Amino acid sequence: MDRPTAAQRTPEPPARLRVLASGSGGNCTLVHVASRGQPRRVLIDAGLSPRRTRRLLAESGVELADIDAIVLTHLDSDHLNAGWRNALPASIPVYVHRRHAAHARNLGFEHEAMVEITDAFELFPGVRVDPLLVPHDELGVAAYRFSFDRDGLPPADLGFATDVGRVSRGFIRRFQGVEVLAIESNYCPRLQRASDRPEFLKRRIMGGSGHLSNQESAKAVAAIAPREHVVLLHLSRQCNSPELAAREHSGGPCPVTIASQFEPTRWVSIGVARADANGGSVHEASLSASGVGTDRPGFVSPRMVQR
Ligand SMILES: [Zn+2]
Repeated sequence: MDRPTAAQRTPEPPARLRVLASGSGGNCTLVHVASRGQPRRVLIDAGLSPRRTRRLLAESGVELADIDAIVLTHLDSDHLNAGWRNALPASIPVYVHRRHAAHARNLGFEHEAMVEITDAFELFPGVRVDPLLVPHDELGVAAYRFSFDRDGLPPADLGFATDVGRVSRGFIRRFQGVEVLAIESNYCPRLQRASDRPEFLKRRIMGGSGHLSNQESAKAVAAIAPREHVVLLHLSRQCNSPELAAREHSGGPCPVTIASQFEPTRWVSIGVARADANGGSVHEASLSASGVGTDRPGFVSPRMVQR
């Protein structure tokens, strides 16, 4: 029997992510990384209660003690749950942007292993993290570009951006070329305007330092053109729906997974590209028929909305 050639084998991706929950009720994403062959696990945001986090981690086969780092985007209570104030294990380093460090202390998070960051840093061997401060309320939000080393190929990258007030040219440039882009798609402007929310709140959300609409998010995705997969984060329950977000993103460059407040997403591989015979690269995402999702975990077409 012919053995598959190197070009035919699909190598293990260097990383994969699973959004445990996303929305104004709490945000938490689990990232599995192979750091020079050694498994590492990272949480992006800790916006769920310790109890719910433990339960969802357990469903993913992970214990809290297995978490090697927590990376925070900002400190709103839906991204850092107050329940963690005295419950963060001292052994887990918590990375927080310098802009948010004083706020963390004011909130009572005197975590011994708090690491203040401003610039790119190496999280683990072969795993780099590059923060970008973007507008959101007073203190802004840290968006992140993660780079995961791969054998014989350029690094595979994940862009992660939630609670983004507006998209700048610098934002687009920072995330171009990523394999997977996780980005918020918060609201439908029509539903937002028609909602019974107070005017000041609508202005806060839509005024350039709140959240991205489905249209703004889809435009950013088109400009960034991720290579493999898009994950939509932080959908408003009142002013959006997975169907509306999926419709707006349906012309996008790759398959879409929509994160939910209530159920974890499937695993989404990061860096599943393999070299083809011509030295170019083939991406798994492009192997699924256009507009039709496969049953491979992590691949959901816009028409196969995952709640
Ligand atoms: Zn939020």
